[in-house]
Formats: sequence, C-alpha cells, structure tokens
Amino acid sequence: MTRAFNFSAGPATLPESVLRQAQEEMLEWNGVGASIVEISHRSADFVAVAAKAEADLRTLIGIPDTHAVLFLGGGATTQQALLPLNLAAPGQRADYLVTGHWGKTAIKQARPYVDVNVVASGESGGFRDIPERAQWQLSTDAAYVHITANETIHGVEFRDAPDVGGVPLIADFSSSIASEPIDVSRYGVIYAGAQKNLGPVGITVVIIRRDLLERAGQPRADIFDYRSHAARDSMLNTPPTWNWYLLGLTVQWMLAQGGVEEFARRNAQKSALVYAAIDGSGGFYRNEVASAVRSRMNIPFVLPSAELDARFVAEAKAAGLLALKGHKAVGGIRASLYNAMPLEGAQALVAFMGDFQQRNG
Ligand SMILES: *Cc1c(COP(=O)(O)O)cnc(C)c1O
Repeated sequence: MTRAFNFSAGPATLPESVLRQAQEEMLEWNGVGASIVEISHRSADFVAVAAKAEADLRTLIGIPDTHAVLFLGGGATTQQALLPLNLAAPGQRADYLVTGHWGKTAIKQARPYVDVNVVASGESGGFRDIPERAQWQLSTDAAYVHITANETIHGVEFRDAPDVGGVPLIADFSSSIASEPIDVSRYGVIYAGAQKNLGPVGITVVIIRRDLLERAGQPRADIFDYRSHAARDSMLNTPPTWNWYLLGLTVQWMLAQGGVEEFARRNAQKSALVYAAIDGSGGFYRNEVASAVRSRMNIPFVLPSAELDARFVAEAKAAGLLALKGHKAVGGIRASLYNAMPLEGAQALVAFMGDFQQRNG
C-alpha cells in the first residue's frame, strides 16, 4: 500500500495514525463488543467520547467558557442559513464582507431571512485582496457582521480578527480552524465544517457566545434552533457519531503534535516553501493574491496555459501528488496544505514544480 500526498481541498487528508486507529477499532471498540458506529449515541460509552472531543477541542483552540460548542450535521453551508434564523429578526440588517466564493455562498443562504448589506467586496479585483477595513460600509443596526476567515477557493486569508465594534463577528473558519492560535473572545460565532482541518466530512463545529443563544431570532423548527442543540449537548437527534469520534481522534492527534502553536509553525513553513517556488519561477507559476493576505491553507496558482495546467495535474498525480486541480470557478492548480499535510508533502510538491518547469518552461 502507498499513500500518496493528498492536496485535496476537502474532504482532505487525515493523519495516517488516526486512520489506523479507526481501522483497528472498526469491528470492536473499547471492549463493548460492537463497533462505535453500532452503539447508541446516548450510551455512557459514546457520551464520554463526545464530551472528550469537546474538552480536547476547547483545549486545542482555547475556547473560553463564555462560548458553547455545538457538533452538528449539515455542513458549513447549513450554518450559513441557520445563523440568520437564530441571530437576526425577520428582515433585519446583516452585514457581509465578500472576499471570495464562500462569502457569496453565505449571502445566498441568508438572503431569505435578512436584509443583506455587503460591506465591501473583493470581486471587482478578482478576489486578490481583502478590502481595507476603513472602506467597509458597516450598518448601524446590523444583527452581526459575517466574514470568511480563509477563502478556500481564492486563497485569501485574514491574518487577524477585524474590529467591528460591538456587533457580533461571525467567521466561517471551515478551511483554517486550528491552523494557528486565535483569540476566540473576539468572535460571536466561529463555524467550520470538519472536513478540511478537523477530521471527516459529516460534522460541523459551531462555537457560539452563550449570550447570542438568547436572541429571539426568527420562527424556526426546534431542530434549526441553536439553543435547543446547546441545551441537549448536540444530541437533540442522533448526531453523526462516527464523524464525532473521528474528529475527536484528529483533535487528540493535534494536541499530541504540539497544538495550534506547532501547527502555525508548520503551516507557515509549508506555505512559504510553495509560495517561494511560485515567486521564484520567473512567472512560469503565478499566484496574484496580495502577499499580506495569501492563504497558508490553500494556494491557487496558474501555469502559462490551461493545457500546461492539465498536464501538471496529470503528471503530479502519476508522481503521487493527488488532487491538485483548481476549483472549477478559478481553474489552474490548487494545493491545500492543511494541518495533516506533512512538510514532506510540500517539499515533494516543490521538487515536482521545479522538475515540471524544467521540462516544460
Ligand atoms: C468547504 C467550505 C464550505 C462548505 O462546507 P460544506 O460542509 O460543504 O457545507 C464553506 N465555507 C468554507 C470556507 C469552506 O472551505
């Protein structure tokens, strides 16, 4: 068996040790005589796994007691609809910053419920930069301000939480959660689908300031109500138990590796290698994102022609470097370097880039 370096943007590469442990425990887990996927979510055995995953995630990210942590199904996109339902009155203003594809998705999901105000958009500049904070047209009466911490397709990342005054800041951290230390207290809500940096697809983490759970929001079913999920420890209905367990193993692995400080160091190192290869290629490889906001997680770049892009992807795959095709919205190449991508993966990519350029440049 050979495991290739997998640069997929999501679902993404997982630590081999996590997959091996899950494999070993698949048929019979923890002496219970059954697989963890075959037991009740309300059993003491599973409840302990769920609680440990939350405690470990709190330690890893530094989540204070002021914030509740929910483990939900439906992906990040579902949260983009639930957030306005839970946090805004019907038709109330809500502010959105658009720095790429996912900011637009967030607006699409929110529009039926709120009066969306786009405070600024990077679209006219091809999403190569984050509009300066001083230029944002914030509303005076917004229910919240929504940003995308890391734009997975366009490769644009905030380096710090922007100051939005007293209005709760909501951030989609799907593709950069736990990749470096952050100050959770600066956010009203942080949400993230797990499939990029936290584990498998099928479970989504919502970190929400507890006072926001008291907002009236809009008429909604109990199952769409964050308060109900919080009151029942995310077991209002059957949660995705297998995904929760795998997320727990992944978080344990990150803690054992040294936590977010260590991953910040590794992620800076990996991304710097790839950006240096791009910038040092004399224009053969191009990434036009402003250097101050270049993503450490997702690096999109293009070659001189679409033909070369396609050849690069195919030859890279043959060389054991998987899933480098860019998103269809932007084309080209995209290298995703999440926490579980080892330094050796980035080094192998850079070596391949040099070799490919020599043969095709
Ligand atoms: C992947 C991604 C999403 C979509 O997540 P789903 O789980 O497919 O709904 C949303 N936002 C960002 C930033 C992403 O990277």
